[in-house]
Amino acid sequence: MTKYIVVTGGVLSGLGKGIAAASIGQLFSQDYKVVPIKCDGYLNVDPGTMNPVEHGEVFVLEDGTEVDMDFGHYERFINTSCTGRQNLTMGKVFHELYLREREGDYLGKTVQFVPHATNYILNWWKGIGEEQEADIVLIEIGGTVGDMENELYLEAARRLQAKEGKENVMFVHLTYVPIPAGVNEQKSKPTQQSVSLLMQRGIYPDILLPRCSEMVTPAIKRKIAMFCNVSEQAVISAIDVDSVYKIPLVFQEQGLVEQINVRLQLYARPDLSEWEKLIDAQEEAVKEITIALCGKYTALEDSYASVVEALKHCEAHEKVHVVIKWVDTEHIDEESIAAELKGVQGVIVPGGFGSRGIEGKIEVIRYCREQKIPYLGLCYGLQLAVVEFARHVMGLDAHTTEIDADTPEPIIDILPDKKDLHNLGGTLRLGAYPALLEKNSLAFSLYQQAEVSERHRHRYEVNPAYHSLLEKYGLTISGKSPDGRLVEFIELSDHPYFIATQAHPELKSSLLHPAPLFQGLVKAAKDISEKTLK
Ligand code: GLN
Repeated sequence: MTKYIVVTGGVLSGLGKGIAAASIGQLFSQDYKVVPIKCDGYLNVDPGTMNPVEHGEVFVLEDGTEVDMDFGHYERFINTSCTGRQNLTMGKVFHELYLREREGDYLGKTVQFVPHATNYILNWWKGIGEEQEADIVLIEIGGTVGDMENELYLEAARRLQAKEGKENVMFVHLTYVPIPAGVNEQKSKPTQQSVSLLMQRGIYPDILLPRCSEMVTPAIKRKIAMFCNVSEQAVISAIDVDSVYKIPLVFQEQGLVEQINVRLQLYARPDLSEWEKLIDAQEEAVKEITIALCGKYTALEDSYASVVEALKHCEAHEKVHVVIKWVDTEHIDEESIAAELKGVQGVIVPGGFGSRGIEGKIEVIRYCREQKIPYLGLCYGLQLAVVEFARHVMGLDAHTTEIDADTPEPIIDILPDKKDLHNLGGTLRLGAYPALLEKNSLAFSLYQQAEVSERHRHRYEVNPAYHSLLEKYGLTISGKSPDGRLVEFIELSDHPYFIATQAHPELKSSLLHPAPLFQGLVKAAKDISEKTLK
């Protein structure tokens, strides 16, 4: 029998519902097959076109579906690879209902939110559980209880419990316990009100996770338990932590696993010792290195969430503390660059689109190449490294046609067979693709294997007409697509660490297994800082 854990949030957004759900998933994933599902209330079919400043990073799954950052948490914590069907949006629900209605599937009936939309949602959840043979389906409902756009998900969840039985469906609710300035004590009222909103919808939470800057006191736990109709043991502090990876430990210490085991008749006994060891190593690291993250959306760290996480994953393995310096390349030029990158031991130019800040990025790459500062280019960071090399080493008036369609040397371009598709609205190359690595390359030594697979999200490529010329001038093309047409990895040999990839290896990095290119960068940066100290 499949079990369902439904995670909702109350009071305000941004409390870390994704992390809470991912942590619950992790605690059960050693003993059971946990399949996470995220339900978003918005009417976009997927977040692919949403502005990352507003919505955070676009995360790409193996199958190429564009989803939101929460999938990054799920995959990193639960050690699973999700499919696009695990993300449901109201856009998808309405689109499908509309198509069915036009096809005449409803046989003349009035198509209604209840039961048609709610049944559609409920059957989607059950369908995913069946097709993936899940022991536990973990459903995160986006937004905050009371938001109009998530009502249908809540109604579907209520129905799910009625249909599948109480012993198979439980509710976990994340809330907020503020400590108002001046009052200086924990306040439970917002939690009470948020649970009351849930109860009005026929949902009775089994476990409450009050987020608070400190552990919730026994007295407040008692109060919450009394007003919200749960036991005191079912009130589990979601305390602020300096690393999200501590949350599974925080939950485990307070007995969350036992609570869920009893409620759903499960027998999970998670062993978090390896996880704990890595977190301790991260904390104990005293040595500090600074990596500059050079981009356009530096105003919002969430737009580069996976890049930041991938750097953090290296800390325990390389025994350093990584400080990230955010560099907005819109305000960088030849004059200011040395000052801007002073004290920096490594640089990343991450993925991006469009022209803002692009000359600054090229300048940053030039500086890293010439001053021998470790450099990692991700997607746009590879394309711009090739443009920089073409301009300053090969002396070409080169550009990417993404920015200058009439450039005399279109060294980054859309491949001819994709151009027609582009005219029809443009297609991104999305999802996992394999690459073959050159045996004696840096890329090979980092991955320790000849065939690798990473996820992609791009439209442009290194123009095949320039491959041999680039190599003639000393750029190593160290990884290509199996048919040899697409450049996947480039590097420089007369440099301590200069490597770039057309892919986004940050999307597959985890605390237990950091992405090799990131670990290589952190190690190179550490070596440099040790040399400077001597
Ligand atoms: N803008 C570039 C392209 O479309 C790079 C995309 C990216 O960095 N994700 O190919």
